[in-house]
Amino acid sequence: MRYIRFQRETEQFGLVEGDIVKVLDKDFLAGGRATGEQIPLSEVKLLAPCKPAKVVCVGLNYSDHAKEMNLAVPEEPIIFLKPTTAILQPEGYIAYPNISRQVDFEAELAIVIGRHAHNVSEKDAADFIFGYTCANDVTARDLQLKDGQWTRGKSFDTFLPLGPWIETELNPGNLEIKLYLNKEVKQHSNTKNFIFPVNFMISFISEVMTLEPGDVILTGTPHGVGPMKSGDEVVVWIENIGELKNFVG
Ligand code: MG
Repeated sequence: MRYIRFQRETEQFGLVEGDIVKVLDKDFLAGGRATGEQIPLSEVKLLAPCKPAKVVCVGLNYSDHAKEMNLAVPEEPIIFLKPTTAILQPEGYIAYPNISRQVDFEAELAIVIGRHAHNVSEKDAADFIFGYTCANDVTARDLQLKDGQWTRGKSFDTFLPLGPWIETELNPGNLEIKLYLNKEVKQHSNTKNFIFPVNFMISFISEVMTLEPGDVILTGTPHGVGPMKSGDEVVVWIENIGELKNFVG
């Protein structure tokens, strides 16, 4: 099932079937049901598919990316937060900050949480997942490296493109993932190269903080990260989900 959040006169929720959106009476995360109204997918303005209370990111989860950053493969996940004010809808413009000289793309699989998760075991973790979507963990690399910790470099408004929809039926352990910059492939890997699998990440994070419905976990980026410039088109594509397209303003 593919769920979207979209804008008409108000924010609405829908279930995508082929080229059709079945409009829901409320948020799918709150048990929204089909109203009977249907509209063409091409006529809706997509929003980021959920409104998380927090976005937890895992750094260095593909061994090939750790290598290109000259960092050792971590023994346990390195986690950090991105503010929800960084979230950007599909087709939205990433705002290039005046104080950065290097803004990088990072294609990532995003997990959307479906139930309150606290101290969840790895064995039970799948029960707490609502679905998956595409994310771009946009990073002001110069500021990230200059500051030594990542908050400023990762947190500018528009630095978290998310979408286009949440796919609920997916095996996250073997998905091709690609990033296209101006239609040229810059990153290409597979989630089978994760250092820490999805269930482990959920268990690990839920031991630290309670995860709530709609919360998002970014699962790290593969090798090939690189800079964007104003005017670029950037696409994150993940097998069996689809593509998240954005532009650099
Ligand atoms: Mg990242």
